[in-house]
This record gives sequence, structure tokens and C-alpha cells, in this order.
Amino acid sequence: EEAGVSAAPAGARRIKALPPGVPAIEIRDLRKSFGTNEVLKGLNLTIEAGEVVCVVGPSGSGKSTLLRSVNLLEQPTSGQIRIEGVDILDPEVDVDRIRTRIGMVFQQFNLFPHMDVLRNLTIAQERVLGRSRDEARRVALAMLERVGLSDKATAHPAHLSGGQQQRVAIARSLAMNPDMMLFDEPTSALDPELVGEVLAVMRDLAAEGMTMMVVTHEMGFAREVGSRLIFMDGGVIVEEGDPREVLAHPRHPRTQAFFSKVL
Ligand code: ADP
Ligand code: MG
Repeated sequence: EEAGVSAAPAGARRIKALPPGVPAIEIRDLRKSFGTNEVLKGLNLTIEAGEVVCVVGPSGSGKSTLLRSVNLLEQPTSGQIRIEGVDILDPEVDVDRIRTRIGMVFQQFNLFPHMDVLRNLTIAQERVLGRSRDEARRVALAMLERVGLSDKATAHPAHLSGGQQQRVAIARSLAMNPDMMLFDEPTSALDPELVGEVLAVMRDLAAEGMTMMVVTHEMGFAREVGSRLIFMDGGVIVEEGDPREVLAHPRHPRTQAFFSKVL
């Protein structure tokens, strides 16, 4: 398989081709409890390749637990998760291999502070994917260019702004050539003037056809970039649909109450 460098011309939309009837992500009756606290209560969700699904909802509604379950950072209590048709809760499945197909970006950027930007981008390529140092470096530089940070390869994270650090974190994920990307409040820790540069990178990624799940409070992004908006409350999906439609005319009283506070 070719390394993570996109060969498509800028602006071309290249959606990962899956066999007919196989969604990128398929979640059936997903439940997750922490002790006696059931935080996902039978959640169902199907995401096709190329979709950008924005997930909103009050704090504690289970958004992070949902994303973390898709990446197997949490072990669900019951239910099914299929990634590109593969049942990832099957004990026989190679969890590490599944994880390399799914990039994840967190609110806190989680860069390695003692490594420069380039090393942050190459280390997992070499150790997890077995790429040579040269190849990893080539991919890293291409990904830095993609997020507009070609000039920061030798910088250490502490010398970058929050927005730049988050763009490095996105580039680091992309360097692993994932089929899909999960974003958990990627701009929530940023100063307001730095939010736009991160959303711009995510917007480009969406335009290129990347399958994305994005937990966010950025309703403008959801409206303009999202192919679907999901409102979660109490561990279930309360309402979902076209973002413009859900934002303009929320049907469920809990969705209405939530948007009347955040918009
Ligand atoms: P959200 O991201 O929507 O704010 P979370 O998925 O982070 O919600 O959390 C949902 C609920 O699960 C909360 O009540 C939270 O306290 C609980 N929870 C999340 N992670 C853990 C954990 N590792 N151990 C115990 N409880 C947890
Ligand atoms: Mg959360």
C-alpha cells in the first residue's frame, strides 16, 4: 500500500471505496457502563465513507465515550461496532491494526514534548507501520505542508501556539494514512483567535473525502462542513439529520433546549 501522501490533485474528493453495503462505521445497540453508571444506553449509528458526522450534546452525555469506543480506547459493555465491515469487538481481531486505520485527535494535543515536530510525526510511522526513516520523513513533511506548517519541522511543541500544536497533532494522525478521523473537541482548548486555523485544516480534510466524526461546539463548522448532525443526551442519540435542518428546526424538546443555550 502506498504511503500516506495524497496523490490526488488539490481539491479532488477521494472517498475510500468499500464493498457495496459496507459502511465505514456501523454501531448497533452500543452500551457502556462505568460501574453502575451506564453512559451509553443502546446507541445505533451508521456512517458511510466520506461522511462528516458532527456530534453535539451536553457535557456528560457520552460523546467522548462514543468516540473512544470506536477506537477501542474504551471496551464497550455490549453491542456491536463494525469498522469497514470488521467486527472490532471480536476477541480474535487485531486491535492495533484497527487502531492504525482510525486517527484520533483530542482536545489536549498530546504531542511528545521532548521531540521536535518532525520526530512527533515519524516515530509511530517507524515503530507501528515499520516505515523506513526516510519514508517516514517524506510522509511527515508532506503532512506538515498539508496543515501549513512546513517551516516548523524542527520546532519543539512548547514553541508553537495551541493552534499550531493541534495542526501538528492532525498531521501526525494523517501520517499514519488513516481511513477515518475522530476529533474530540479539537478546538475547545484553543484561544478563540486560533480556532479558525484548525477548523480550516479539518474543512480541507472533509473536502478531500475523509470520513470524520467530530465532537464539537462549533455550530458554524457543523452547519457548513457536516454532512450530518447528531444530538446526544443521556447516552443515546436523541435527534439527527442534516445539520442545517437540525439547527434551524430542532424537533426534540431536549435538542431545542440545548440549542437555545449554545446558539
Ligand atoms: P461527554 O464527552 O459527552 O462530556 P463522557 O463520555 O466524557 O461525556 O462521559 C459520560 C459519563 O461517563 C460521565 O458521567 C463521566 O463521568 C463518565 N465517565 C467517562 N469516562 C469515565 C471513566 N473512565 N470512569 C468512570 N466514569 C467515566
Ligand atoms: Mg467529552
